[in-house]
Amino acid sequence: MKLLNEWFDTRYNVRNRHYILDSGLQILHTLNKQSLDSYASIILMAGTYFEKAFNVPNGTAHFLEHTISTPPNKLFKTEKAFTRYSFGGRNTPELVMNASTSFKYCSYWGYCHANREEDLIKVLSQTSFKPLDQFEANVEKQRKVILAELGTDLKPEKNQNLLFRRFALGNGEVYNTNFSILGEKESNIKAITTENLIDFYTNTYTPKNTIIAIQSPNELSPRTIKYIKTIDSSLSKNNNQKAHLFDESINTKVQAGYFHNTESQAITTHLLRFEKIRGPEYDYSYEIVNNFIRWIINFYVNRELRQNKGLIYGSVSYVNSNATWFYDEKAFKVTSDFKNLRKVINSIDDSINFKVEEFLESKDGHRWLENEISNYLFPHTAAFDPDYTDSKATAILRGFELYHFEKARTFVKDLTIDTLRKALAANTFKDSYMLWIDTNLEINKVKAVVEKTKAFQRITKG
Ligand SMILES: [Zn+2]
Repeated sequence: MKLLNEWFDTRYNVRNRHYILDSGLQILHTLNKQSLDSYASIILMAGTYFEKAFNVPNGTAHFLEHTISTPPNKLFKTEKAFTRYSFGGRNTPELVMNASTSFKYCSYWGYCHANREEDLIKVLSQTSFKPLDQFEANVEKQRKVILAELGTDLKPEKNQNLLFRRFALGNGEVYNTNFSILGEKESNIKAITTENLIDFYTNTYTPKNTIIAIQSPNELSPRTIKYIKTIDSSLSKNNNQKAHLFDESINTKVQAGYFHNTESQAITTHLLRFEKIRGPEYDYSYEIVNNFIRWIINFYVNRELRQNKGLIYGSVSYVNSNATWFYDEKAFKVTSDFKNLRKVINSIDDSINFKVEEFLESKDGHRWLENEISNYLFPHTAAFDPDYTDSKATAILRGFELYHFEKARTFVKDLTIDTLRKALAANTFKDSYMLWIDTNLEINKVKAVVEKTKAFQRITKG
């Protein structure tokens, strides 16, 4: 195991070590002395997206995750035996284990009290990669489980992530992606064969496609390293290729998407843009200024529309990287009542175009910037973040340079009103944005209001 990189993260008070094995398998270990827990994941670029590349039915990635993460396997002959091992007792902590498949990744993960960390890695190593000849026993059982999952609340029309992804990538896409994690229809799930599972396994479960992420208060012990090597030798039996990502083209035609959500009480309006991810280098000056712009818009919208006018319940700004490979969704999410919808959309549009710039020039704007810089430079203690290592690990797997708090600080220290003013003038939200609306009302009724707003007519005129 070769140490590639080591750094201390002052923001979280943790030490990171990035290793690589000869096969290309990577490990990111975060030594977090403040944690009582150990978290570990095996993350693979083996999500639903890759199904098309290997010509397997939609749902194969998730189906494979099910068959791999449940006994029988090398270590546990039955589900019961696995439960017995993972349960805690008076002298032993419990192991909590699970697996999940997303559009991009498949991951096997677990956590426990740190004094059982080695057992955690052991279970991950043994149950995650079972020999191919043991797949068969589990296939029909898991097929039933998955059909039941599809039958409950994951039908495509109720699946907001899926519909949003189709909205984002839906037209003009070069590589025709599968959008549904479970499999769009029952017939997809029924069509998956053991051969498909093995095919997908052999082509995507490879060392170069994988990273192991561990966050714990312990140094990696010899036993832990032994299990990491077991994972490596299991994966090394497969075709050691790195995942190939096909070009994506983002929706540029449809300006508004609607999701009928029977559970939502108010209307949630997302104003969003898809922005091509820069990289592989982390562009501090661009990213930081860009963040501050979204923060000031969000601050202003909350102050005006919520505190002063009572038009919205709240606004949050966020970045979502789960929908596509090459674009980040940068967005504001605003909740309001239906009766205020027209005003809300128009006022935000107005804020983005004129009001925020005026605010920035004002005394309050200057104070806001000083305070925001202060919060960045003097952060409060970061609470333990179970996803800390995973999110850094996926960036490493993509070959991206990681964000370093210390480097970011030097840029933040030099931020001026002038820099932000220029960036605001060039703010991409000004040109255009898209709307994604989550509502329990009849979609046509909402659509009629949205399409008549001044804002919508401005952005569709382009
Ligand atoms: Zn499942």
